[in-house]
Order: sequence, then C-alpha cells, then structure tokens
Amino acid sequence: MIEIDNLSKRYRNAHGNVTPVLKGISLQVPAGSIAAVVGPSGAGKSTLAKCISLLERPDSGSITVNGKDLSLLSGEALRRERRAIGTVFQSSALLGRKTAWQNIALPLEYLGVVERDIHARVGELLESVGLSHKAQAYPAQLSGGQRQRIGIARALALRPSVLLADEATSGLDPQATDSVLKLLRQLRDEYRLAIVLITHEMDVVRATADTVAEIRDGEIVHSGALNTLLAQPDSHLGQQLMPLSPVTAPADILLRVSYRTDGSIRTDWISQLSQQHGLRVDLLGGHVEQVNGLLSGRMQIGIRFTHERLSIPRLLALLAQQGIVAQVLDAPVVLKEAV
Ligand code: ADP
Repeated sequence: MIEIDNLSKRYRNAHGNVTPVLKGISLQVPAGSIAAVVGPSGAGKSTLAKCISLLERPDSGSITVNGKDLSLLSGEALRRERRAIGTVFQSSALLGRKTAWQNIALPLEYLGVVERDIHARVGELLESVGLSHKAQAYPAQLSGGQRQRIGIARALALRPSVLLADEATSGLDPQATDSVLKLLRQLRDEYRLAIVLITHEMDVVRATADTVAEIRDGEIVHSGALNTLLAQPDSHLGQQLMPLSPVTAPADILLRVSYRTDGSIRTDWISQLSQQHGLRVDLLGGHVEQVNGLLSGRMQIGIRFTHERLSIPRLLALLAQQGIVAQVLDAPVVLKEAV
C-alpha cells in the first residue's frame, strides 16, 4: 500500500521565478491494485514519479509505504526504506555489457546478498517475467518488450511492495505493450503489488488500471475506479478513456449512453428499443470493448420518434431497464415544445 498525501513540489525556472509543479497531490494505491496517473505533457507526471521514488524531495506532503513516511527519512534510513519501491522507466536502462541475468542480479550484489541466494532469486525473477530462456542474452539481443520485462524483474529484485512504472510501455509496439501489461497484471495478483502506472496512453489504462487519476497543472482534477468512470456517460475522464467522435444527424433527442456488463445486457438493445417503442435509433458514434473482463460500451445515439412521442424520463427509464445509463445531450423538439 502506498499513500501519497498532499504532495507539493516547486521548481525555480531559469529567470529565478518559483513555479508550483505539484499542488497538493493525494493518491492511495492499495496492495494488489493498479492506479494509473494520466495527464497531458507538462502536467507534472514525471515530477510526481520522481517524488514518489524520492529522486526528488517534495517540498511538503508525505509518501507513506507500509506505514512509514519516506519523506521524513534521509541517508541510510531512506536508502533502506526506499527498497520498498521498485521503479521501471520508459527505457529499461539495462547495462549493455551485462547479460539479462547479471542486470537482474545487480541490486542484490549492491546489497551484498550471498551468491547462492542471488542465484535462487534471479532464477525466480526470470521465471516470473517468462524469460528464463534469455538469462544469458545481452540487452541488444532482446526485443524492446523483453528488455522492459527484464527491467521489471530487476525492479522487483529487492521484493518491493510498490512498483512505479513511469511510461513503461511508451515506445513499445502493440504486441510488446500487451506482454508488459499482462506481466504487470500478473505481478499485481501474484505478489499483491501496489502499482503506480504513469502513462499518457489511454489504451494502456483501459487494459490494466483499477483506478485512474487525471493530473492537470499539478493537480488531480478527476479520479475514480475505471469501471465506474466508464459506466458514467457524463464522465470527463470516461470520455477520454473511450473517446467518441460522433457524426451529426437530425434527432429528436441526442443521448450519450454507457453500459458495463457481464453479459446481462442484451447486445441487441438498440433493435429492441426501436421495435418495441417505434423509435428510430441512429448510432452516431460508439466504442465497445472488453475492459477488466466486462463488456464496456459508450455510444452516442440520436432518437427519432416515428409513432408516439416518449417523454425524456420515460425514455431514460426504458434505457435504465436495459441496464443502460444515459445523458441527454440535446432535445431540440422537446425544448421547442417547452417554449
Ligand atoms: P509531465 O511528465 O506530465 O510531462 P513534468 O513533470 O515533466 O510533466 O513537468 C511539469 C512542469 O514542471 C513543466 O512545466 C516542466 O517544465 C516543469 N519542470 C519539470 N522539471 C523541472 C525542473 N527540474 N526545473 C524546473 N522546472 C521543471
């Protein structure tokens, strides 16, 4: 478990002016879960990563891992407690002249672990990341995804309880990204790691995260459980996670709808709605995908009444009966009538 509480960091720019870069960031990541931190370039994500790994000292706030506030420590005590946080960066930063095996062994050697234990631990880690057969390969002989998996194995050498992955899949091809994300989910479950995943890639978030926090100008502006955000049609972060670029078409009511289902929602809900209630439903944009093992859908639909005109509450109730949450974006006809 890692708890970041009210973390702030200021930098002095070239003109000597002090600019706040992180303004009171709070984030809790329980053991066995993956928290994604997203945000545009310049939002403060890398600074947050550096503060979490204590490469940069926050100006205020705390970083508590397993009940110990690391921001209060320095020297040997900090070095010791910092082992609870393993870090992987965008480039795995493996040493080119050492084999995969030797790279993973490095943190253990620095710590003076006896050789027999190093052998056992490195063997175990190579197996965890599925690369036992690459033990003697040099980084240049590995693919980008394999290098990153070796980097993850090295980050786990000292049995951290937190893994900080800073843009760990940026620059990898889709297949390599998948293999790294699959590994992160496996490590979350096997070792009950608390994983902080800093990324600008929404596909990565949808594929792995349990919770998401969006950071802008050094502040968390939106956050929540991935499932909840995707199931809310009006969620700003949900919209970024599953963006819709709808086409326009004339409609009596324009709706954004969301659903998330283990199979209880009929996939033919659009035809059901049109057949049973004489509605013409135009699909103007949509995104349906398996997320965390459930089918998630976000769509924009236009409804035209061909027979009786349903009131908005009645329409929303019909959708709700199907397990679909809807947000009215526009209702020109209804509005005209109200005038
Ligand atoms: P992100 O990773 O989200 O792109 P960063 O954390 O790299 O954002 O940067 C956030 C802001 O802090 C930017 O405006 C950047 O220019 C500034 N910044 C980052 N590091 C330093 C530094 N060492 N000195 C001064 N300003 C910095």
